[in-house]
Amino acid sequence: MQKLHHWIDGQAQPPRSGGWLEVFDPCTAQPHAQVARGDAEDVEAAVAAAARAFPAWSALRNSDRAAWLEKLAVALESRIDTFARAESLDGGKPFALARDVEIPRAVSNLRFFAHAATQFASESHHGEAGLNYTLRPPLGVVATISPWNLPLYLFTWKIAPALAAGNTVVAKPSEVTPLTATMLGELAAEIGFPNGVLNIVHGLGPEVGEPLVTHPQVRAVSFTGSTAVGKRIASLAAPALKKVSLELGGKNPSLVFADSDWRAQTDTLVRSAFQNSGQICLCGSRLLIERSIYADFRDALVERVRNLQIGDPMAEGTQLGPLVSQAHLDKVMACLQRAREEGGRFLYGGNRIDRAGWFVEPTVIEGLGPDCASNREEIFGPVVTLQAFDTEAQALALANASDYGLSASLWTRDLDRAHRLSAQLRAGIVWVNTWLMRDLRTPFGGVGSSGLGREGGAEAMRFFTEPKNVCLALLP
Ligand code: NAD
Repeated sequence: MQKLHHWIDGQAQPPRSGGWLEVFDPCTAQPHAQVARGDAEDVEAAVAAAARAFPAWSALRNSDRAAWLEKLAVALESRIDTFARAESLDGGKPFALARDVEIPRAVSNLRFFAHAATQFASESHHGEAGLNYTLRPPLGVVATISPWNLPLYLFTWKIAPALAAGNTVVAKPSEVTPLTATMLGELAAEIGFPNGVLNIVHGLGPEVGEPLVTHPQVRAVSFTGSTAVGKRIASLAAPALKKVSLELGGKNPSLVFADSDWRAQTDTLVRSAFQNSGQICLCGSRLLIERSIYADFRDALVERVRNLQIGDPMAEGTQLGPLVSQAHLDKVMACLQRAREEGGRFLYGGNRIDRAGWFVEPTVIEGLGPDCASNREEIFGPVVTLQAFDTEAQALALANASDYGLSASLWTRDLDRAHRLSAQLRAGIVWVNTWLMRDLRTPFGGVGSSGLGREGGAEAMRFFTEPKNVCLALLP
């Protein structure tokens, strides 16, 4: 069975403890690889390698660091199919989704931040008190911790700006889907990436993530994952006053108004609820529908959901694969049981699919109010609830009835309404008549339980640098 090693100082390294974890193919529920079960000693070695590499990497011209990232982007681009197959095997996502969207997006992340390295500029302030200019040096060694749902896409979304800004990185991918990060480490070594600049340590959160977060030489932590772990990381980083960026869960509303082109947009709305089996933090899991179109919309939606192609992620045409793990399947099934107990009416789905692998039917539920757990807590599966509203004010109140505040989508042809509601929705990201349309320059992140800080474009470059103001007296 394939063994996935750490990548430390440009080398594949076995876990110092000698322990390995099994990695499963969600489609068969069988192990397909073993991954290093890292610990604090491995973290120590990786941080030491990153610290050794920092002076030379940070001293490079921005354009030289950009050239390295571009080289990595080109190498990844030439292997999209291989990486997509691996991503699909590891996480159960449809191969086509990995090949057409997620791995190309990882390439774009590397390329975008290669450009950012040469475009990023710092501020100067003049005319009030002397001449001020701001330096933005890199922080040093930084940690990135990423989840299983978009493994390489989110891994690159973090390492690329960190490296572009001149930091060296110790990255911890999810132990559930470690394959493509390991392959990227191999690829970096293959193209001659300087040793120690990008280090990858595998393992469990408490055994690798926590020693990384608390390591005194790690200057900042960029984390994407669950709200519970985000809070834990914040509490571990606080005593050292460490910089943290936390991209956490979501319970995102989609507001569908009668004046929208909803018939033409139903496919996009279905995708927004069910893409990657609902395992995207940005999925619209609460559909809020104007009452005058509720029945027609519901019937059209259920019809589309009934026709979703569920099956082997590698098969052409598959739209929905399995959930990522046995643990996650158990969680989603418990949420479905809770929805039944709360009085939800299941319009479609609600059951595990009787086949090998962790498959759950796409599920549509109505009859649940805004206060029940099903509409408040993140399920992160192929489950959407429907609620009707009569007025714009009601729609807004339902949309904002959540501790989370990551994204919202708004479906209307009324431009005034679109602007009015966009300003009032409690979310870091609002889409109008679209979903998951991304310009990588825009601020990305959430409010409330969805996190702290923003990623993307200049926000990420600012996070990974330390502003230092220099003030010169202008002598007469
Ligand atoms: P998770 O929080 O369980 O794990 C995320 C990462 O943190 C993994 O690498 C894990 O090993 C590590 N980790 C776990 N415990 C840790 C600890 N005590 N200290 C340090 N690291 C620790 O999340 P998950 O189940 O992998 O991912 C799903 C969650 O991620 C969902 O809640 C989803 O909404 C969220 N997510 C958010 C975004 C966003 O951009 N806001 C994007 C994708 C996923």
